[in-house]
Amino acid sequence: MSQPDARSTAAQEKAALDQVPTQLFIGGEWRDSSDGSSIDVEDPATGKTLVTIAGATVEDGAAALDAAVAAQADWAAVAPRTRGEMLRSAFELLTERADHFAMLMTLEMGKPLAQAKGEVTYGSEFFRWFSEEAVRIAGRWSTSPDGSTRFLTMRQPVGPTLMITPWNFPLAMGTRKIGPAIAAGCTMVVKPASQTPLTMLALAALLEEVGVPKGVLNVVPTSRTGDVMEPIIGDPRLRKLTFTGSTPIGKQLVKQSADQLLRVSMELGGNAPFLVFPDADLDAAVEGAMVAKMRNMGEACTAANRFLVHEDVADDFATKFAAKMAAQTLGRGTEDGVDVGPLIDAKALDKVSELVDDAQQRGASVATGGSRTGDAGYFFQPTVLTDVPADADLMREEVFGPVAPITTFSDDDKAVAMANDTEYGLVAYAYTTDLGRMIRVSEALEFGMVGINQGIVSNPAAPFGGVKASGFGREGGPEGIDEYLSVKYVGIAP
Ligand code: NAP
Repeated sequence: MSQPDARSTAAQEKAALDQVPTQLFIGGEWRDSSDGSSIDVEDPATGKTLVTIAGATVEDGAAALDAAVAAQADWAAVAPRTRGEMLRSAFELLTERADHFAMLMTLEMGKPLAQAKGEVTYGSEFFRWFSEEAVRIAGRWSTSPDGSTRFLTMRQPVGPTLMITPWNFPLAMGTRKIGPAIAAGCTMVVKPASQTPLTMLALAALLEEVGVPKGVLNVVPTSRTGDVMEPIIGDPRLRKLTFTGSTPIGKQLVKQSADQLLRVSMELGGNAPFLVFPDADLDAAVEGAMVAKMRNMGEACTAANRFLVHEDVADDFATKFAAKMAAQTLGRGTEDGVDVGPLIDAKALDKVSELVDDAQQRGASVATGGSRTGDAGYFFQPTVLTDVPADADLMREEVFGPVAPITTFSDDDKAVAMANDTEYGLVAYAYTTDLGRMIRVSEALEFGMVGINQGIVSNPAAPFGGVKASGFGREGGPEGIDEYLSVKYVGIAP
């Protein structure tokens, strides 16, 4: 574990926490919870409370939806250029204040500061991208095949949207919903994860500063999540639900949305395979594996969950990968030189430990790591396991931690079959230098995204999303704004 420079980090942490809003943001006003409820936000590196914020009640949730509904018509009428310029200003302010936002994320979520800054870059880019998309919402003019009618096709804002986001990327999971919603002219109620609400509250203050009108964006952290969200989802004035989080909660929310036939986008869990073919550049594959596995301490829906390596190169790959993993420095994310922060909570740490124990009991060997570490906080050693059998739980479940199980394959068809043998379908990675293999494998993989010779696929200019139990809908890219637009056609008899 690395040693902190206690004085300077403590001062920076205090400054970040002193500035963060701690109230609900409803109808353009900062207010306390209607019954005085609160949420203690914990530092996962110490288990101690960082700050206490207001927690929304059912009444507060209803007030947030009232505000979003009241603001919708005027907001939809705001000129696209004006909406785009608000996003552009938000991008610039976020960039200017990257250190502040990064510090908040590191404190509430645990990721090292350098990665938190990376998330500010990634997250703010959704605002820049959608500032450019706001002015390109186009329609169509066409003639019916028999010539009797003209079709005017337009794309209009879907309307008030509920956004529910997870704790692992407190900024980016918000901006990739808020960006296109602002660009499209939708109002919104945002419910950040109760473990990481600070970044979203700070973002709401920033959006207020750039002139997003009252009621367009409402933020209601709550610890009574189901009780507060269900009536909003059941309210006929809500038009869309967009959710990023676990597959079980996603399924539950799809069921709740069915009564209203809401427009729904679901960004859910993953179980990403990382394939290494015998012709791969092995050093590049190891570099890619580090990124695909260790970004966010493995707490990413896109994290490589299973390493499927050709038997001819498996030993070399495992040795090089284990050496890199063993060289990682664990510590509190605010400390200099830290590569790996804590996991989010004790439950997550227990789950990772259980998955590693289960794999070992079924015959896997530990190449490096293998256990929890540290006296405080929720730290797990970067771990590489070899000879992991297909029936080990961590080959089927999202490990959501710094653990890399390696198993081998003998031919391409088997590799693809193993990769596809999961209920999930978010992302797959493959390392190969053979162009034909790149094409064949990319086409055969049943995933929404494929990274070839790269360990990261997230990019605001590309359509992020999954198939199967990883959900539906796309965030980012030209497709990202479509989720917030409805198509209407007008038939005109000339
Ligand atoms: P989670 O437990 O499903 O929580 C996600 C969000 O849903 C949180 O805001 C949570 O609120 C809320 N929630 C929980 N129960 C709810 C209910 N009954 N009704 C309405 N909302 C409810 O997931 P997580 O543990 O935060 O995040 C990790 C999961 O997200 C992983 O499976 C990961 O793969 C997935 N993820 C997917 C993507 C993607 O783009 N595909 C991106 C990032 C993460 P509380 O915090 O108050 O419980």
